[in-house]
Amino acid sequence: MKVLVVGANGKIGRQVVNMLEESDTHSVTAFVRKEEQVEELKQKGIEAYLGNLEGPVTDLEEAVKGMDAVVFSAGSGGSTGADKTLLIDLDGAIKVMEAAQNVGVNRFVMVSAFGANNREGWSRDMRPYYVAKHYADKALEQSGLEYTIVRPGGLLDEPAKDKIKVAGNLEISESDEKTVPREDVAKVIVTSLDNEKTYRKAFDLVTGEQSIEEALNQL
Ligand code: NAP
Repeated sequence: MKVLVVGANGKIGRQVVNMLEESDTHSVTAFVRKEEQVEELKQKGIEAYLGNLEGPVTDLEEAVKGMDAVVFSAGSGGSTGADKTLLIDLDGAIKVMEAAQNVGVNRFVMVSAFGANNREGWSRDMRPYYVAKHYADKALEQSGLEYTIVRPGGLLDEPAKDKIKVAGNLEISESDEKTVPREDVAKVIVTSLDNEKTYRKAFDLVTGEQSIEEALNQL
């Protein structure tokens, strides 16, 4: 598959780009927002597209055109306010969905957040973030696109454990694992791309006991 990674300079996005670049079955274009990021990618021989999620849908259509799939792993980050959360995590995501629909790209993998589907679990100070993730996910579910929504728990900068737990609605107790290495999230994204068991599915993801292949095949 030809895959556009949006948020390609991010901590998960970079790993997804590298995995796709090394894959025999996929090729990748990295969607980034700074000229120097384009240069860095080009020096590594990786295709890059310079764009901005705050720009018009027509610009995003240019980026998506000719792709087989889109991975959306962008986010405004913890140091910006609720305005940027709305503009990137919600409107940015929906604009990329619209662009994909407009140019006939059907496959869409979204990085959301653990519990974004369940209002009762949202912590008070993170509410705007969860609202953005929740409604972006809803829009994707209703878009008619062939979606996979991955909702990881707390992200760790550790090597992959290659052991995960996934479910449409993971019940987690106090003593359970609530985190997952970013590298495992990237692997789940790449493995999901052409695994039809993950199509039209939304699931929570944390470190667990199953291999990635096995866990995704049980969805
Ligand atoms: P990250 O490192 O902050 O990456 C986000 C990327 O989005 C950055 O590369 C950033 O670009 C890009 N971006 C922001 N605004 C943009 C714009 N206007 N146009 C184009 N690109 C833009 O995030 P991560 O750690 O990889 O996480 C990926 C996703 O997982 C995020 O959506 C996050 O909310 C979600 N998540 C996080 C946690 C957690 O524990 N932190 C848990 C679950 C889910 P620059 O590099 O240029 O800044």
